[in-house]
Amino acid sequence: MKAIIITIGDEILLGQILDTNSQYISKQLTRLGAEVIDILSIADDREEICHWVDYAMKRAELVIVTGGLGPTKDDVTKKVLADYFNTRLVMNEEVLKWIEKLLENGGMSMNEANRGQALQPESAKILFNRKGTASGMWFERDGKVLVSLPGVPFEMEDLMMQSVVPGLQHLFPHLQLDYRMLKVYDIPESELAIRLSQWEETLPEGFSLAYLPSPGFVMLRLTAKGKQVYNLDARFDGLKETLEGLHYTEGENGGTERELGELLLMKGRTIATAESCTGGNIAAQLTSIAGASAYFRGSVVAYANDVKERVLGVSREDLEQFGAVSEPVVRQMAEGVRRLIGTDYGVSTSGIAGPTGGTPEKPIGTVWIGVAGPGRTVARKFTFSFTRERNIGKATVKAIELVIE
Ligand code: ATP
Ligand code: MG
Repeated sequence: MKAIIITIGDEILLGQILDTNSQYISKQLTRLGAEVIDILSIADDREEICHWVDYAMKRAELVIVTGGLGPTKDDVTKKVLADYFNTRLVMNEEVLKWIEKLLENGGMSMNEANRGQALQPESAKILFNRKGTASGMWFERDGKVLVSLPGVPFEMEDLMMQSVVPGLQHLFPHLQLDYRMLKVYDIPESELAIRLSQWEETLPEGFSLAYLPSPGFVMLRLTAKGKQVYNLDARFDGLKETLEGLHYTEGENGGTERELGELLLMKGRTIATAESCTGGNIAAQLTSIAGASAYFRGSVVAYANDVKERVLGVSREDLEQFGAVSEPVVRQMAEGVRRLIGTDYGVSTSGIAGPTGGTPEKPIGTVWIGVAGPGRTVARKFTFSFTRERNIGKATVKAIELVIE
């Protein structure tokens, strides 16, 4: 099944907002087994909408449109779609009551613009929006489907999960697709492939395994198609058994950083980072986990030596004598940020990320990592690789692992 996503909104074209809706929708459609062939972003403009909806309906079996369903004049999607599908707008009493109730809860009264939102195309199935005032619409013609959803991301997501995905599953059951992901640390992709080759050969038709290497880990994606989606979990368990003894985490976002977050949360402890060569990447990884505010308090990106000295209290003599990439410096950075921000743990990095710089004693890829905790500070030296991106990525993973230890 071919699918096209159209996001409508002048804000997207003006660069005021980032179109995150199509990413979310294409992810869901891919899971369902649809092939997204185009993602289009267009203006709140009658002619544009007409032109591209017509194009999409000719090329794809499924078209999903978001945006332009608001009460204001610039939101024209509903009217244009009603015209395109040759149907008229009629008052939907159920939607009208719902809008009335929403407004009432917000202390507002109904006006003409709000009433207009309850007008719905007669031939469409109305997708009730329990998070907002703009309903979704499901049109069908010649075996093809067009769904129109509000632009507000959480409203769109709710409607996708509540109505659109189940509706499509019902219509196209043979197309189903699902996957599981995990991250395997500290093993080169080639070695992992050898280790998994026998298991891979036992995979029946409908399953596939993909390797997605990143600095510091290899992501594995096990995909099941059609009827095999019901056997996915059992196969995934088999994969995990084959990985026994290796360090891996489940899920696609958040591996070690999620593990650390859970540990800190469980113990009621807090953390701060003092980063030189990782430039804030550890903080970025930690804050990629929802709820990180319960344990992550802040970060100092101390790139220059005088910042290490003035902000974190690293001794100037040590900086001069041992250099910034050294054990005493990362120890003082970790202790300094712990003191400065007032946390249970401080973690620090200082290294030579490359691709230039480095000396015979401290080649590119040399990174010192320090962790200061209640009563104890540890530091360890690593030698990673020659590429900047890998060095930053690996130093980040190692730093988080060192705190977990
Ligand atoms: P509403 O009735 O709530 O106004 P709507 O369908 O009219 O819904 P829009 O006016 O197009 O929605 O957009 C509302 C807000 O939703 C925008 O200001 C923007 O912040 C967000 N939004 C719209 N489209 C997208 C998109 N493609 N990706 C991310 N956010 C979006
Ligand atoms: Mg709009």
